[in-house]
Amino acid sequence: MTVSLRDTRSAELYARALTYLPGGVNSPVRAMRSIGRDPIFVDRAAGAELIDVDHNTYVDWVCSWGPLIHGHAHPAIVAAVVAAAGRGTTFGAPTAAEVDLAEEVSRRMPGVEMLRMTSSGTEASMSAIRLARAATGREGLLKFSGAYHGHVDGLLAEAGSGLATQGIPASPGVPAAATAGTVIVPWNDADAVIEATATHDLAAILAEPYPANMGLVAPAEGFLELLRDRATSTGALLIFDEVITGLRVARGGAQELTGVIPDLTVMGKVIGGGLPAAAYGGPRELMERIAPAGDVYQAGTLSGNPLAVAAGLASLQLLDGESPYLQLAATTEALAAALAQAARSAGFQALRIATAPGLLTVFFSDRPVTDYAGAQACDLGAYAAWCRGLLARGIYAPPSQFEAWFPSLAHTPEHIARTAEAAAAAFGELG
Ligand SMILES: *Cc1c(COP(=O)(O)O)cnc(C)c1O
Repeated sequence: MTVSLRDTRSAELYARALTYLPGGVNSPVRAMRSIGRDPIFVDRAAGAELIDVDHNTYVDWVCSWGPLIHGHAHPAIVAAVVAAAGRGTTFGAPTAAEVDLAEEVSRRMPGVEMLRMTSSGTEASMSAIRLARAATGREGLLKFSGAYHGHVDGLLAEAGSGLATQGIPASPGVPAAATAGTVIVPWNDADAVIEATATHDLAAILAEPYPANMGLVAPAEGFLELLRDRATSTGALLIFDEVITGLRVARGGAQELTGVIPDLTVMGKVIGGGLPAAAYGGPRELMERIAPAGDVYQAGTLSGNPLAVAAGLASLQLLDGESPYLQLAATTEALAAALAQAARSAGFQALRIATAPGLLTVFFSDRPVTDYAGAQACDLGAYAAWCRGLLARGIYAPPSQFEAWFPSLAHTPEHIARTAEAAAAAFGELG
């Protein structure tokens, strides 16, 4: 039996939204086009549950794509934001809380001695690249196919065909000159990394240490160490984009989890506690190249915004000690086990579930996914149908197989049980 969603109000809002917003949304994935349905308009949320404008309740496994490690509207975070707002929402002058947040992050992330805050992850990666180019006097960049570092011109690049190693624009409007210096290599391809680092003068190797924007695809054994070695031996900087993994997969992010320390780290999402904040950081001698300490220009009217900083700080205070991270990892593994069991119970076999603490992807594939080509080869149509089946049963899973699920500290065994039951029914419909 096919169940469907009550969505009259969402449909009305979407029709209006299409008049004033391109595609009806302010960021593409929200439109749910890749699962072949219209967007769901949210009314409110608390903990791990989301309520839409038609009064449907969902278990939310997207959690705003990563910032909400404590779930929605955590009372301590809301109180911190309200208190900060009462003192003034922005000053364009420094505040004590910014120093506190920078100190908290620097205590946690092994590679971050100093940081500069920005308002989005996109800005932070753009700025980290500028710093890497200034520090090395080189312009080339190496990035991985299927990785996302924000919509920076030079990073909206895809591999050229055949033997071409120059990146080509991945979107109209991106100048060819902006991507010409970007080399794209398949994730987990050691030979390609060795070749590309030997033949190009690179300012930086840029990587999500646990890529989560092609779905979650863990690094192969030794791969991050190889990136570290190749960067050091060729004079490039290693930049880890920990916008998703930072402060999530472990207290100190993927760099703590793997012991591979980058030269520069890009952060976002969790650092802002659900408000717009991001940062880039590294050792003092590199970071002091940034203006006004140094000559590399970068600025922002709302950078280090008091509300975002208050939310970030409150969020980090709730992450003190090891137990939140143990809980997050346990929740992730319990979810993975429940989804695998749901698939088995429905006789559905072509599934690979990838996890890292606080991150999960369900690949509709009968072989392990180790790179972007593998993610693209999955049965995306089956994922879309399954995801629509989940939504219809009150489970809000990422409406694209190329995105991760974001378990939070607000998800309970009951949420997992509800998810497993819906998942089994939705698998059963796939036939
Ligand atoms: C979300 C994301 C970004 C971009 O951050 P925005 O705040 O959306 O600009 C960069 N890198 C990674 C790995 C991300 O997941």
